[in-house]
Amino acid sequence: MKIDDQTSFSLEAELSQIAFSDASAALIHEAKEHGLPFSRESSQVVQVMLPYGVISLRQRDDMVLLQLKAMDKTVLHQLKEGVLEHMGIGDATYARALRWQGDLIKNAPLPDFAELTVVSTQIVSNCFQRITLAGQGVERFLGSPIHFRLLLPADLSRDPVYPHLDENGRSVWPSGADNLRRPVYTVRRVNTDELTFDFDVFLHEGGPTGTWAQKVQSGEKLGILGPVGGGLMQAQQVLLAGDETALPAIARICEALPHTAKGAVLISLAKGNRYENLQLPDGVSFKQIERSNASELEQLLEEAKASYHKLGLPRTSESSLLFFATKKPVARKARTYFFEELNFAKENAYIAGFWD
Ligand SMILES: Cc1cc2nc3c(=O)[nH]c(=O)nc-3n(C[C@H](O)[C@H](O)[C@H](O)COP(=O)(O)OP(=O)(O)OC[C@H]3O[C@@H](n4cnc5c(N)ncnc54)[C@H](O)[C@@H]3O)c2cc1C
Repeated sequence: MKIDDQTSFSLEAELSQIAFSDASAALIHEAKEHGLPFSRESSQVVQVMLPYGVISLRQRDDMVLLQLKAMDKTVLHQLKEGVLEHMGIGDATYARALRWQGDLIKNAPLPDFAELTVVSTQIVSNCFQRITLAGQGVERFLGSPIHFRLLLPADLSRDPVYPHLDENGRSVWPSGADNLRRPVYTVRRVNTDELTFDFDVFLHEGGPTGTWAQKVQSGEKLGILGPVGGGLMQAQQVLLAGDETALPAIARICEALPHTAKGAVLISLAKGNRYENLQLPDGVSFKQIERSNASELEQLLEEAKASYHKLGLPRTSESSLLFFATKKPVARKARTYFFEELNFAKENAYIAGFWD
């Protein structure tokens, strides 16, 4: 599909207090970070192509025009909500002050919001709780999208107050005692017959989501936002590495691999932690690395580097996939090593910090 075919909806806003050169440098930096194609049509226009839309910056007279185009209003809304933060421009107050024009949704719930119902909960292993959800919104995860945000009251004893779009199309989030937490989770499995999905919560010390997951009962409601982030990635040659939080995503990727796939899976688990067995193609090896504390997550990176060289994973081939997800500082080091030192193609990789 060509980009032009995907961009039926659009929004634009004038950026204040910023020069075109600074705004376009920030946008190009972000595009490079994510391995996204971009173009400079002239010295006054920069465009970044996303899988489902386009972000453009234009110099018009003495102002900078930010334009967003997308194939549906939900994606357009997500672009609008995230673009300035991704570009590192302004703060929440600056973003709220922007006057968007075009296909704005007003006086409505956020378009990527859904209120789902907990159908069941079960213990997966000694450190994972599985929650099954049903309801309108599950169908958004039938294809490749695999991540979403939970919307949980910061004070779990309170009823949730969910965000909405006001009469100017701006998102209004609950504040004060109604504050929400928004951790990201992975859809572990979709049941297409029942229209339900499962997600697995790692039960770590001091985790409010784990506290919620162990207490929640069937029939209770849960607000989510999504899908968010990238979708399910497939490849013929893979290196997949992560800790407990990455296990649901790695399990999904492994189940979607062709049976002829080759490569390696490396998992770092705190001593005693367990998860269900992964379904691996014959050509994909599995190694579990036991750690006594979070500082030993560095070993995951060292093992990933060694496996990468042993496998000879092609840096630029579309048939390669490098997935690495764990605590943020270790993921940052992995990005430096694979992207900056080895020049691994970003479009064939997903290297992300999953927790602070
Ligand atoms: C794309 C993506 C997909 C993810 N998928 C999943 C998933 O399917 N299942 C899952 O369990 N997690 C997943 N995570 C990770 C999850 O979002 C984080 O662990 C998040 O911090 C959980 O929120 P919380 O309520 O447990 O803790 P927070 O309120 O974020 O943090 C509370 C305390 O717990 C600590 N903490 C957070 N995570 C860990 C950890 N893993 N180990 C030890 N201490 C920790 C924090 O440092 C903090 O001190 C995913 C993250 C991303 C970005």
